[in-house]
Amino acid sequence: MNRPRIYMDYHATTPVDPRVFKAMEPYFSELYGNPASKNHSFGREARDAVEKAREQIATLIGAKPREIIFTSGATESNNLALKGVARVLGRTSASAKKHIVTVATEHRAVLDPCEVLAREGFEVTYLGVRADGLIDLAELAAAITDRTFLVSVMQANNEIGVIQKLEEIGAYCRDRGVVFHVDGAQAVGKIPVDVGAMGIDLLSISGHKLYAPKGIGALYVRSGQPRLTLQSQMDGGGHEQGLRSGTLPTPLIVALGVACDICQTEMDAEADTVGALRDQLLHGILEAVDGVQVNGSLEQRLPGNLNLCFGGIEAESLLQKVPDIALSTGSACTTANLQPSHVLKALGLGHEAALSSVRFGLGRYTTGEEIELVISQVVEAVKELREKSLLSNFS
Ligand SMILES: *Cc1c(COP(=O)(O)O)cnc(C)c1O
Repeated sequence: MNRPRIYMDYHATTPVDPRVFKAMEPYFSELYGNPASKNHSFGREARDAVEKAREQIATLIGAKPREIIFTSGATESNNLALKGVARVLGRTSASAKKHIVTVATEHRAVLDPCEVLAREGFEVTYLGVRADGLIDLAELAAAITDRTFLVSVMQANNEIGVIQKLEEIGAYCRDRGVVFHVDGAQAVGKIPVDVGAMGIDLLSISGHKLYAPKGIGALYVRSGQPRLTLQSQMDGGGHEQGLRSGTLPTPLIVALGVACDICQTEMDAEADTVGALRDQLLHGILEAVDGVQVNGSLEQRLPGNLNLCFGGIEAESLLQKVPDIALSTGSACTTANLQPSHVLKALGLGHEAALSSVRFGLGRYTTGEEIELVISQVVEAVKELREKSLLSNFS
């Protein structure tokens, strides 16, 4: 019998919503003008489509359309935000501010640009997290000094789905006059984001995490006073207010706009449905096998995320036993050995517990039937692996 493949890796990427695909299609072959071409209707209709999308994206996060800068994805948005701010604020004078505060559980797309800046002479503080994955606000307060110019905290974590309390962090940054950047790749479209209420100055968005295609994203850049200036990372025709030159990919931008619009209308209902399926998965597994721990807070978590530690089992072996289910371990394979996830280590998990952990990512197209199949296949695999290790312990 052919077992159906089940996609449970929505944090890695999402499929393009058919409604999104339909909306972008005409912009490949019929409405193909360059949005920067001002002298003819081909250009103007492309420009109108881009501006409509800008509005749809801005609406979803409580921003103004002119505060949205199109990029190729959240990696580029993070680089533009972090390096862009650092290279303006960090070089102005001898007394320049040189200190950045971020968190140990950030995505590599934040940690790596921070490392580059550290090599350029910036000082970077990596806040730890509590066992539930949340940062301690008192620790953040203590970390900020007069030399701090930037705080970067992700809204929702891509491995454990834990949601940081951005209102409080944002209010604190505002009080101290520090720029607040948020990597919103996993959060935007899944849970409410309000840049005003959360005091966010810069917000990174990724298309392919919210049912738009890969290769498109955006950076929200707060307008108004005090003025926030960024150094561009890509120079050329001066597109996107000079912050990101390059011909705008109209079809991808239309897709991102429509994807945000769909999230805007369907987010609440979808969160309920996906959250219920996640709970069904959790309870189904907990009822059938012992020694399973949830990594990170269950309450402060994305509805579609579950990250479980299966005691005594190697996550890589578990994944091999369920080849029809797309799951992730979060661990990185270096040439010779397996490195446990830096996120799980930051929660305080030991080497072994971190290598025993599996991420389940649910989303828009996950069904109850799939959840039941995943429960039965995972439970069976866990039992088999535990029996095998028991036997080998006695031999
Ligand atoms: C996926 C992801 C990114 C990278 O986004 P791309 O659009 O693929 O560049 C950055 N941060 C987080 C938290 C992510 O989940």
